[in-house]
Amino acid sequence: MEIDVQKGLLAANERLAQENRSLFARSGLFVVNIMSGPGAGKTTLLERTCETLAARLNIAVIEGDLQTSEDAERIAAKGVHAVQINTGGGCHLDAKMVQGALKSFDLDALDLLIIENVGNLVCPAAFDLGESARVMLLSTPEGDEKPIKYPLMFTRSQLLIINKMDLLDYVDFDVKRVEGYAKKINPGIEIITVSAKTGEGMEGWYGWLTGKLEKKS
Ligand code: MG
Ligand code: ZN
Repeated sequence: MEIDVQKGLLAANERLAQENRSLFARSGLFVVNIMSGPGAGKTTLLERTCETLAARLNIAVIEGDLQTSEDAERIAAKGVHAVQINTGGGCHLDAKMVQGALKSFDLDALDLLIIENVGNLVCPAAFDLGESARVMLLSTPEGDEKPIKYPLMFTRSQLLIINKMDLLDYVDFDVKRVEGYAKKINPGIEIITVSAKTGEGMEGWYGWLTGKLEKKS
């Protein structure tokens, strides 16, 4: 019975995700859904991204969190329009929550919408939000066995960003091993390594993003 309920939920979500997707297409908007476990550095990555790209792109951010609006405030402090979705304990964002948040934006005026999903390596992967691309963030302290433990995340993402490269010497994390696992699960996945904190490698991420945006327009 539990499985039927879940199937129904996902089917309803899929309809709303398609509505979001056509809305984004009409506005020529590129939308990225960023997923990771808690504490991988999504908000730090977005702070630096907004700092760097907000001068040339109209960016907006949707922040998904269990509670509090701290992350949205951090993004807003960079001068970027950020809207918080509090899931009230829910462990993922769904298409309906995103649809509700879209009312806060003038979609036609935007170039890029970034959605920071709830920190969780499991169910965010199952919920389509209508995004153009999915990006997964994995930080070096989390360990290098994550792709085999949480394969769905890696299957559904176009880009894997390995973050906290500044900590590589202090943790048990083999970049080559993660690359091997991730490519085995998803041969098409692109992989870049960064430190959102120091800025190392961030050009690769900006290049990926702007490349996608250029393809769109
Ligand atoms: Mg965050
Ligand atoms: Zn969930």
